[in-house]
Amino acid sequence: MARLHPGGRHVRDWSLQTLGAGALLAALDILFFFTGCDQPPPRTAALPPAATAAPRAPAPTPAPEAERSPWELDVPAPAGFDRAASAGQTLALLQALIAQDTQNPPGNELRVARELAARLAGVAGVTVTVLEDAGEGRANLVARLAAGQPRERPVLVLAHMDTVNVQPERWETPPLQPTLKDGYLYGRGAIDDKGMLAAATVALVALAPRRAELTRDVILLATAAEEGGPDVGVQLVLEQHRELLGDAEFALNEGGRIRIVEGAIAALNLQTTEKLAYNVLVTSEGPSGHASVPDPANALAALARAVARVSNWRAPLRLNETTRAFLGGLQPVDPDPRRRQDLADLLAGDPDRDPLAKAAGERLSDDRLLNSILRTGQSLTLIHGGIRNNVIPSTGTATFNVRALPDDDITQIVAAMAAVGGEPGVRFELEGPVHVAPPASGTGTALYRALERAGAEMAPHALVLPYMSTGATDGAALRAAGIPTYGILPFPLALEDELRMHGDNERVPVAALGWGAEYLYRTLSAVSSPGP
Ligand SMILES: [Zn+2]
Repeated sequence: MARLHPGGRHVRDWSLQTLGAGALLAALDILFFFTGCDQPPPRTAALPPAATAAPRAPAPTPAPEAERSPWELDVPAPAGFDRAASAGQTLALLQALIAQDTQNPPGNELRVARELAARLAGVAGVTVTVLEDAGEGRANLVARLAAGQPRERPVLVLAHMDTVNVQPERWETPPLQPTLKDGYLYGRGAIDDKGMLAAATVALVALAPRRAELTRDVILLATAAEEGGPDVGVQLVLEQHRELLGDAEFALNEGGRIRIVEGAIAALNLQTTEKLAYNVLVTSEGPSGHASVPDPANALAALARAVARVSNWRAPLRLNETTRAFLGGLQPVDPDPRRRQDLADLLAGDPDRDPLAKAAGERLSDDRLLNSILRTGQSLTLIHGGIRNNVIPSTGTATFNVRALPDDDITQIVAAMAAVGGEPGVRFELEGPVHVAPPASGTGTALYRALERAGAEMAPHALVLPYMSTGATDGAALRAAGIPTYGILPFPLALEDELRMHGDNERVPVAALGWGAEYLYRTLSAVSSPGP
């Protein structure tokens, strides 16, 4: 994942990863208890009366419960899918992809494109195109599996080939060497996004022998430059090579989450929309002077007062279709009666008009993770000012990174920030253009239903909900191009592993790889075949 810079470029960003994952955490804070209901309670509380009635007998040691892997499946493998083989292929391919250094900058995605092209060469029904117009060493790749009965428009699967950079000295293993350790595969890109790329490729290859019965083409798009730009990835393909994507009806991309809580899969959050990223520059100007004569009009002091107030300010609370559905799904299973009531009150009314709904929403917003779902948020990220310790400087600047709800008006948000900041000589301005948010991708499409169904089959106790990510992905460009897009990282992960995305010691549980490939296979199969 990366975020879109206001100038239209992608910049590296990991705060949003924490936030994106954190928004889920908020949900799963709730689900933590919900899942707990599915788990047997600790045995120590349930010793049989006979044991307590026999004081001389040593207390029986409860038998350790058989550890069940969260990736273990009860459902049989789908037709045409060899579970063991696919798991092995996904692991092998991911190891090969990690071994290709595609840290961006500079990217060098051509290395991964060649690796993929070699794997796909000779797969009957698959046509591979490597696009080398993305710059020196860079590439995008399109692999198209032709359906035998193409009655419907193609389905796209997207994954990016580049990764963020590494600080090798902070890793336990060499980050660019795929390393198996304690049941995990370590390496840069393992979960962002080479894992998805490997799983999608394996799913495509597994579908190929069934192409005669498929009703739509399945197109894998492997992109460059998602992490940190420039716009030579999905944008370039959409602008210059749209024909290779056919008239795709919808797309699957990274961005959503499958969360393991307490050893079981608790939730599948399918990203249908995302917040928009902006930067707001705050500039303070005042008289310069000698530090020996304190000046109440000190520009830095005014800047500090203004940014402190704006930091504590809350933009108006606002629900959209996606966050309503998301919170509505969580509400009945929240174990905290107070929060359950607050969610019910919030969802029953319009927080703009209904004081009960507004009060409930404000209480819920005390959880900073829920707060990031409920409103546009602003984080103070940069402060610059001063030239030396005995000079009152005439100017200082600060930057707020703003994540706007898709239907919020950023111009109004900036005006409100300026009013709240309200210091003489301090002004607030939006850097870069105003983005038009593409519509959220609907939950009524065949692809969304296929994602839901595959989730219900593979993780029958998990909640499956539409989700607005607080971070940004290539999905925004696809939605803007009129292609409804659903985000999912197909590997069930515990929060602790998910938070390593963009960080040190990125890893994926080896047992999750086959699960991810099967999830994509089931989804693509359901959406591109006549069905039962
Ligand atoms: Zn990513």
